[in-house]
Amino acid sequence: MFIQVALPVPLPRLFSYLPIEGAALPVKGARVLVPFGQGQQVGVVVATSAECDVPAAKLKPLLTVLDQQSLLSPALWQLANTAARYYFSPLGMVLPQLLPVKLRKGESASPMPQKYWQFSDRGQDCDPNDFKRAVQQARIVAQLQRTPLLADSDISLLELSRPALKALTDKGLIEAIEQQPQLTQSWPQQWESTDHIPTLNKEQAVAVSAINNAEGFNCFLLDGVTGSGKTEVYLTVMDKLLRQGQSILVLVPEIGLTPQTISRFRARFPLAMEVLHSGVNDNQRLASWQHARAGGAAIVLGTRSALFTDMPKLGMIIIDEEHDASFKQQEGFRYHGRDLAVMRAQLQSIPIVLGSATPSLETLANVKRGRYRHLKLSQRAGKGRPVKQLLQDIRTCHLDAGMSPAMIERLKHHLHAGNQVMLFLNRRGFAPALLCHECGHLHECNNCDAFYTIHQGANMVQCHHCGSMRGIPRQCPDCGSTQLFTRGVGTEQLEQALARLFPDYKAVRIDRDSTSRKGSLDAKLEQIRSGEVQILVGTQMLAKGHHFPDVTFVGLLDVDSALFSADFRAAERLAQLYIQVAGRAGRASKAGEVMLQTHQPEHPLLHQLMASGYAGFAEDALTERGLAQLPPFWQLALLRAEATYPEQAKGFIQQAKGLLPEGELQMIGPMPSPLERKAGKYRFQALLLAPTRPALQRSIEPWLEQITKLESGRKCRWQLERDPQDLL
Ligand code: ADP
Ligand code: ZN
Ligand code: ZN
Repeated sequence: MFIQVALPVPLPRLFSYLPIEGAALPVKGARVLVPFGQGQQVGVVVATSAECDVPAAKLKPLLTVLDQQSLLSPALWQLANTAARYYFSPLGMVLPQLLPVKLRKGESASPMPQKYWQFSDRGQDCDPNDFKRAVQQARIVAQLQRTPLLADSDISLLELSRPALKALTDKGLIEAIEQQPQLTQSWPQQWESTDHIPTLNKEQAVAVSAINNAEGFNCFLLDGVTGSGKTEVYLTVMDKLLRQGQSILVLVPEIGLTPQTISRFRARFPLAMEVLHSGVNDNQRLASWQHARAGGAAIVLGTRSALFTDMPKLGMIIIDEEHDASFKQQEGFRYHGRDLAVMRAQLQSIPIVLGSATPSLETLANVKRGRYRHLKLSQRAGKGRPVKQLLQDIRTCHLDAGMSPAMIERLKHHLHAGNQVMLFLNRRGFAPALLCHECGHLHECNNCDAFYTIHQGANMVQCHHCGSMRGIPRQCPDCGSTQLFTRGVGTEQLEQALARLFPDYKAVRIDRDSTSRKGSLDAKLEQIRSGEVQILVGTQMLAKGHHFPDVTFVGLLDVDSALFSADFRAAERLAQLYIQVAGRAGRASKAGEVMLQTHQPEHPLLHQLMASGYAGFAEDALTERGLAQLPPFWQLALLRAEATYPEQAKGFIQQAKGLLPEGELQMIGPMPSPLERKAGKYRFQALLLAPTRPALQRSIEPWLEQITKLESGRKCRWQLERDPQDLL
């Protein structure tokens, strides 16, 4: 017998091994440790066969069989295979994504003891009221009264204080124990929610009943403006299924998984919930995976990769902010979480709900084709009024750190009224370029076709493409002049300008630089929520998912670049961003304003967006995409190659083009990537377009097999990505 094993290497085939002598054959879906090259790899058994095209003498035996049973349910096994085929990816690159990191590394799949907190004998009679001044200790005591065994992994999720845990331990009132997690297989069917449940409005009720009445696979687009009560719809449909003993998978963007989101779900459903995001450590991930797989997790709430969680009683998938770019994995196995979730729902014959205030054009096209059902929430639920939109022409206008006088005037108005304001600029750092005033030299990164960004706080210049850094140059390398000026504005400069213009108000900046330390983002968000700061400056990070009820003014500073980008999705992203940030203004009882500054006040996209909102914009944008033969109408894949010399990368793509089958598949390229040189490598790419999915699939499969054998492919790093989201 021969064992066919999928290994996590980028080669499009399985690898054959001999069984271990005298041992039972491993089952399909079990992990095995195998010799590979000079080392060892953990792989997954795909099949056992009586024949093999490699002579048995050349094969090596397995080293260890790590699992007695399959680690993948039939549904997930099928999903992995479908995904591998769809994304033209080796099965061996897909399968590890379905397993927690610890299992990919070969650790045992059986549950490990976990740390828990409980009352000690002395602490049994504790009462939260005894801790009047020690609020954090009181919260822990109250939590232990509700859940007598508190998992240590829940401490940060519940925002409980570690110092308070220590204080209670020191007093001998609580203790930590280690024990085997109890893998329960169900949850109570009756419970009391601790949050306030509003009466649904008409549109919400219509959406809920459409989703509740769905049988088998159905994909719904819940298209609701920000604050229209989409989450309330999710919670209501979840309630019904949870009471029937079915579990739910909820996927949210990386940045949307805030403590508020988690506590909203917890308050509504005091049931076993596994939370999975990038901050969860490998031990917790493994424990969550085990719990969910045993059938004990009522809810799995997580980011992209949580989509692969095995849940035997899965009854529905919900994806919030389905348009969000973070659902796309940008390295290794480059899948789109939303699209794979739809595939999973289809394979498992369950409903899936995609929610957004700004649906992706892909999803809207599916609605138009009649594949998805469109549910609309057109009104803000509860309090909150529509915002006033201002389009500010900044041609010939004097700008102060990128702000027009009109913008500064509105800021003043809203600040004086005692409200918070938010300024949005999608460029971090102090300035995006350093210019020599005497000779015009712009300081470029040595390894990339890109200018250095100046970071004044850090006293460095940095290349945002390869990360290389050095001290801020004092002299021009070309002419020796010391007259060096910054060009353009980044968030750091904007923050300084605001401090100068509005010395009586406090500003906070939220971008990747200012929040790199653990906990600093939360601290800043708390400053905003408590009203300690009045001016919010930030990049994308600030735009998403946070609810700031006192913000009444939002300004967008530099949006023109998106209108002229080489990336055909840039306009869609700008429209989504605009609607999302506009949705941040005036959520509570106060009227809001949003101002957009542009040099292109006549641009049709901006007009359409202002006049008829996102829906009108999307309608036009879809027509344009159709005419240009682009996604979502045409199917797109991107072939990328990078090499030390430009001819190597370009040559490979040229040769690949020569092998292209006659007919349905078109190639545009090779052309230099928008950033031609990055980290010292030259990059070329080509677009592959076909009119339909089957056409793309059947033309690429045989072609890919051929180009994999090309000698020129060994001189460069190349990859083929389906449904690319970034053309950079
Ligand atoms: P979304 O997810 O669309 O942004 P949410 O579900 O978070 O909207 O709702 C926004 C706010 O409106 C929340 O504070 C929520 O409690 C409230 N809300 C939702 N539905 C209703 C309703 N039917 N009546 C009153 N308030 C509601
Ligand atoms: Zn110079
Ligand atoms: Zn660089």
